Amino acid sequence: VTEAVEQDAGEHDAGRAESRKPVILTVDDDPQVLAAVARDLRRHYGSRYRVRRAPDGREALAGLDAMTLAGDPLALVVADQRMPGLSGVELLALVKAREPRAKTVLLTAYADTDAAIAAINDVRLDHYILKPWDPPEERLYPILDELLDAWDADHHPPFEGLRLVGHRWSPDTHRLRDFLARNLVPFRWIDVERDAEEAGRLLEAAAVQALPLVVYEDGHHEVAPTNRSVAEAIGLRATAEAESFDLVVVGAGPAGLAAAVYGASEGLRTAVLERKAPGGQAGTSSRIENYLGFETGVSGAELTRRALTQAKRLGAEILSPVDCLRLTPQDPYRVLHLDDGTTLAASAVIIATGVTYRSLDLDGAERLRDAGVFYGASMHEAKAFAGEHVVVVGAANSAGQAALHFARFAATVTVLVRGKSLAARMSSYLVEQVDKTQNIVVRLETEVVAVHGADRLEAIEVRNGDGGRETVAATGLFIFIGAEPSTAWLEGVCARDEHGFLLSGAALVRGRGWKEPREPLSLETSLPGVFAAGDVRASSVKRVASAVGDGSIAVHFVHQYLGL
Ligand SMILES: Cc1cc2nc3c(=O)[nH]c(=O)nc-3n(C[C@H](O)[C@H](O)[C@H](O)COP(=O)(O)OP(=O)(O)OC[C@H]3O[C@@H](n4cnc5c(N)ncnc54)[C@H](O)[C@@H]3O)c2cc1C
Repeated sequence: VTEAVEQDAGEHDAGRAESRKPVILTVDDDPQVLAAVARDLRRHYGSRYRVRRAPDGREALAGLDAMTLAGDPLALVVADQRMPGLSGVELLALVKAREPRAKTVLLTAYADTDAAIAAINDVRLDHYILKPWDPPEERLYPILDELLDAWDADHHPPFEGLRLVGHRWSPDTHRLRDFLARNLVPFRWIDVERDAEEAGRLLEAAAVQALPLVVYEDGHHEVAPTNRSVAEAIGLRATAEAESFDLVVVGAGPAGLAAAVYGASEGLRTAVLERKAPGGQAGTSSRIENYLGFETGVSGAELTRRALTQAKRLGAEILSPVDCLRLTPQDPYRVLHLDDGTTLAASAVIIATGVTYRSLDLDGAERLRDAGVFYGASMHEAKAFAGEHVVVVGAANSAGQAALHFARFAATVTVLVRGKSLAARMSSYLVEQVDKTQNIVVRLETEVVAVHGADRLEAIEVRNGDGGRETVAATGLFIFIGAEPSTAWLEGVCARDEHGFLLSGAALVRGRGWKEPREPLSLETSLPGVFAAGDVRASSVKRVASAVGDGSIAVHFVHQYLGL
């Protein structure tokens, strides 16, 4: 977007505060008059407003587009009536249509008074001022003071930060919302249907039709950008500063972040690679009740925020989004091959890639993925389901937590459980809370057998214990049906058990991949110097605390390995 409107001479946008001052725009085709109006405006209003000028209506409108994208508030437009192209009245009518709250003032010669008076009715002109306006203390400032006071009283400072315009049911929009929310990036979500006016203004200003549209804080925009492109634009780090590290941790869930904290604090040059967003599964939890030291529970997002800050403060490099595709030994290094084609060499590696949710093998489920069918809990989606019917599939703690969280917003939440009881796999405190929550319905011995909807989920079909089928209207289906370890990329490199979990330490008896004359260290995988921590490890306890424990213990054995 070109910045057609000239910044006023002498105006230096030194910092953000300066650039966020509301704008007074003055438009006149006569350069001398334009300079004189701008000078008088700046003298009186310069400390509170930015005074900008444009030589004609067309450039003024182009400048307004740039301001809309940058989120700069427009307080007042002062336009001359007689200009080539758009007249003052025509321009101010367009300004009012775009920025209904902005105040508009027409500068006219005495001969044009009739046009000005007509414009008060026709285009809701706020005022007209006759030229010349000298002395401004009498003929200009009193009028503008009043208009600006009224504008100020009605003005809410705009959201400063990234804005995402999209369709609620678009998988691309969901991807970006999920990425931003889970990377703890503040952003304003503008739904094209629910916030049609604001969305329309931004789309028009950006001159695009396609969605999702990301408008960055500085006003530049991208349509359907990749997560990496957004990460780069907002300063998330996806590229390492160095090519080799003492320790590279793969995965930034609780295990990986704990390994980062201990590794960095104990003097190891440490990098953490995360393919989606720091926090892992725990980051998607609405409330972790059993993590030591948080007596009233802690949300996954908050725990992640703290752990991330701690790891960074201690000197770990957190790179996200970075997908680790392969690991190859090049003694004495372990080399990680990343999705951007680069490699990182590490003296030791901790694999903390956790697990991912199994997907539902049903017709249409893949097509409606992220358009009503979600895997795991996307907690920030909950508000979007206000007043609607949401179905949660699963019977373990994660399903229970999700049901309770969604019940705060949705009209009803149905929990579908294949087994005969909720208590079989869910902690009793959760079962009790689910029972007590009035808008949660638990249906035992019931499973989902089909999903329906053209481009978003509209209904699901369920089968109950006696084989009967039923179609149930639902806009959200959240699936928690067990998880598989994220280890496919290590096939043939690190020994795994029959379910794909990494074997380590004492479990690595000879014949299962361990070839060294020494015994493997605790948590060490079949590839010496590569350790497993958290949910990805065979026989691990699937808990936040145990993942954190694994991460810290693994660092202890990394030191031993490096000292060998
Ligand atoms: C909704 C929910 C609620 C839960 N509630 C609780 C609770 O209340 N209490 C409790 O103790 N436990 C709870 N758990 C379980 C707990 O969250 C997990 O045990 C814990 O997060 C495991 O941590 P982790 O670091 O081993 O793995 P994960 O949390 O799974 O993190 C692994 C990370 O590795 C990344 N990754 C994977 N592959 C790659 C790759 N190739 N390259 C780069 N990065 C990669 C992933 O994107 C992910 O961020 C809950 C789980 C869920 C899903």
